[in-house]
Amino acid sequence: MKKQVYRIAALMMAALFLCLCPLENVLAEGAAAPETQGTENAAPTEKPKVSAADLQNQGILSVGAKGEEVTKLQQRLKDLGYLNGKVDGKFGGGTKRAVIAFQRRNGLTTDGEAGADTLAKLYSDDAKAAPGNEKTDVLAGDVPMLVNKTHTVDEFFTPADLVKLKDVLGTKLVKVKYKNTMGVRTAVEALKAMLEAAKADGLGKKWQISAGYRTWDQQVSMLNQKTSAYKKKNKGWSSSKARRAALRSVAEPGSSEHHLGLAFDINKQGSSNFAGTKHSAWLNEHCWEYGFIIRYQKEKEEITGFIAEPWHIRYVGVEHAKYMKEHNLCLEEYIQGIENGTIVIGGGSAEAPAEEGNTEEETAEEPADSEAPENTGDGAEDAGTPDDLLEDLPEDSDEEPDEGAAA
Ligand SMILES: [Zn+2]
Repeated sequence: MKKQVYRIAALMMAALFLCLCPLENVLAEGAAAPETQGTENAAPTEKPKVSAADLQNQGILSVGAKGEEVTKLQQRLKDLGYLNGKVDGKFGGGTKRAVIAFQRRNGLTTDGEAGADTLAKLYSDDAKAAPGNEKTDVLAGDVPMLVNKTHTVDEFFTPADLVKLKDVLGTKLVKVKYKNTMGVRTAVEALKAMLEAAKADGLGKKWQISAGYRTWDQQVSMLNQKTSAYKKKNKGWSSSKARRAALRSVAEPGSSEHHLGLAFDINKQGSSNFAGTKHSAWLNEHCWEYGFIIRYQKEKEEITGFIAEPWHIRYVGVEHAKYMKEHNLCLEEYIQGIENGTIVIGGGSAEAPAEEGNTEEETAEEPADSEAPENTGDGAEDAGTPDDLLEDLPEDSDEEPDEGAAA
C-alpha cells in the first residue's frame, strides 16, 4: 500500500518536472497559436479589429455590445451566479469576466465572447451554475494545504475568516503597504506575535508587508500589468512575447499561494536586496517559531517550481513549520513524506529523507526577472522593484476595462 502511494507520488513528481522543464517549449507553442490557448489570461493577439456591433450582427456578444440580447445574457449569467454587477444591457468588463467564468466551468473556449456555442450552452438546461459562496477553511485538516503550479485553486476559491491586516497589526509594528490587504485571522495573529518578538529582539523598525491574500482577479490584473510593462519597455515585442516574459515573475491565476490568505510578502522598507538584511536573517531564523516557513528557498527551486523568495512567508502552524525547518524540507517534500508514510505528524517516529545543503545560509539574491528561469509565486517583488506593480488593484466593477485591454 505504502509502496503504491510512493509510486504515485514519484509519478506525480516526474510529471511536475516534465511540466517545468519544457516551459519555454510549451510557451513557444502557445505563442505560435495563441488563439488556441483557450484562456482569458492570454494576452490579446493582434487580430484585425472588428467592432462589437459587427460581431453582434453575426450573433456574437462581446465587450461594447448593447441592447436586449445583452440584457438577456446578463440576466441569465446573474441567475446562474456568475454576474455580480448590474443588468443594464451594456456588455462591459464585468460581463466579460462572467462569460469567461461560465465558459471555464462549462468546458468552453474561454474567450469572453458569447458566440453560438456559449449561448447554446448558456440557455440550455445543462448549463452549469457557479459554485455557491462557500468559503474554504484553509487551516482544516492535518496537512497544510498546497497551492502551486500543479495544485491550483479555481476562481471561486475564497478562504474563510479573512481579516484586514491593518485591523489586527495596528500601525506601529509594521507598515502595511496597501490598506486593504487581508489574510486569514490565525495567520495574521501569528504575524503579530512574530513581529512583536522581532521588536523584542531589537528589530522593531522598518518591517513592511506588501502582499497578503490575493483574489483570482487581482492575480489576472498583476499578470496583465506586468505584461503591459514589458510591452512598454520593449518596443516591438508582441503581446504574447511580453506575456511569456511576465510569466517568469508573476504566477498564473490559481497557482499563487497568495490565494490562500496564509502567505505574506514581508520585507524591509527601502531595501532593494532583502536577503542581505538583518530583517531577513531574523525571519529565516525565527519565523517557524510562529508557524511560518520561508516558502521558496534557493536550493528547492526545482521542487517548488518557483525561484527563491526570501520575503515570502507561508503560515502552516508551528508543528509543521518546526518539522520542515529541522529537516530542511520544503512544503512539497513535507507533504510527500506524510503521504508516503516516511513522516508521521503528531510526534511519531519520522525518517525524513536526508537533505544536503543548509537553509541557515540564505544566499539567494533577488533575481533579475529578465534572467529568471521560472515563475515565482509573486508579482513584481522579485524584480528588485517590489512596489511599482503592486498598486491598489481595481475593485471588481462592471465599468472596469476588461483585462485583455491591459496589454
Ligand atoms: Zn509572495
